Amino acid sequence: MSQSGPNPQSGPNPQSGPNPHPERLYYGDAYVTRFEATVTSVAVASDGRSATVVLDRTAFYPESGGQPDDRGRLGPWPVVRVTEDEASGQVLHTLAPAAASDAGAQTGPGPGAAGLSGFPAAGALVAGEVDAARRRDHRQQHAGQHLLSAAFEKLFDASTIGFHLGEEVVTIDLDRPSLSPDEVRRVEDLSNAAVLEDRPIVAHWMTWEEVSRLPLRKPPTRREGIRVVEVRDFDWSPCGGTHPARTGEIGMVKIIGVDKVRGNVRVAFLCGDRALRDYRLKDDVVRGLAATLSASPAAVSEAVRRLAEQAQQSGKELLEARAALIEYEADALWREAAAAGASGANGSGADGRRVVVRRFDGRPMAEVKLLAARLAARPQTVAVLATAGDGQAQVALARSTDLDTLDLRPILKELLPVIGGRGGGSPNAVQGGGPNTAGLDELLRRAQAMVG
Ligand SMILES: [Zn+2]
Repeated sequence: MSQSGPNPQSGPNPQSGPNPHPERLYYGDAYVTRFEATVTSVAVASDGRSATVVLDRTAFYPESGGQPDDRGRLGPWPVVRVTEDEASGQVLHTLAPAAASDAGAQTGPGPGAAGLSGFPAAGALVAGEVDAARRRDHRQQHAGQHLLSAAFEKLFDASTIGFHLGEEVVTIDLDRPSLSPDEVRRVEDLSNAAVLEDRPIVAHWMTWEEVSRLPLRKPPTRREGIRVVEVRDFDWSPCGGTHPARTGEIGMVKIIGVDKVRGNVRVAFLCGDRALRDYRLKDDVVRGLAATLSASPAAVSEAVRRLAEQAQQSGKELLEARAALIEYEADALWREAAAAGASGANGSGADGRRVVVRRFDGRPMAEVKLLAARLAARPQTVAVLATAGDGQAQVALARSTDLDTLDLRPILKELLPVIGGRGGGSPNAVQGGGPNTAGLDELLRRAQAMVG
């Protein structure tokens, strides 16, 4: 909030015609950030935590026309919101309580600005200070919007049907269904050319008759006291917002996104300081990627595309290798089960059935299930495989299709209480899990007896 008074480079905004609202200081000069005013009314909220104040004059811009409100201070009180009362035409300043350290300090020009409520009293003289950085940002974004909308109109006869100046991004909606990258570049070029030409931006107060003779980009919304903003030899548009005195202050105009919204195109863009911050961020990202990839910034896109391709190929190869390994493991377990049959551990039942019971702690369940399925792909085989990790016991049972009289679902149902678990599946493959890892060995012993 260091800037005050007219901009030393630009001077106040040029304008013509009598301003019917001289009490709105920003209409006459969008660079005024310090002013003095008399409080004409105060309404303190019922909870006493805020107050709505009207002044006899103000430099605070109220939220309207897609442009956000100004912020700042009125004496020691932070101005947290500024709105316009449509009916009365008054600018309403919402104040927050003064900080304890500020409350005693007399920043207003008159004595005793604070009333009994802790907010200014009616009749008090107060010093206003508009957040100059925020105002400057709004001047840049808002005037940049004039240039972009005019450029879209000139080049593609596309009308702007919406405008939003957000905290991060500014958008306009256009009455067309799509926008090509080449069209985006042409609009950027024309807008930035208008910036470099440093054209004056002039506010005119006009009558309906005067306005009707102008090549306006959009019709005015009121019939008298119309404010028309002219970007010299570039654009005429009815507007009550705050603009720089010349287009040079807008700085770079950059479109950063084009989206389809309800059949129209929404164009996101940044101007001036916002565009510079965005460029810095993206430059950092690209440089970081370029260093990591040992590529030039221009080659980063291609390098990342190749990297993604390689990752996809490697992933595919890894899956194939893992499948081959699982197959090999299944084969070894199956042979072992046959050999161990005589000893009574994992082994073959009386009817030649092979039963493989194993516990693989810490192994991913997806792999355990795959191993069970590969075992069950062999004839006359039942696999009971388990894993424990992260306080979770999990079990997968699978059997060969030729053991079609064996339904694994009731077996699982009987086993799961041992690990306090839940599960399900089909007659030939089931799985379940529960928190009681200490019961997992018991579960496997019972399973062995039930499917053997
Ligand atoms: Zn404007």
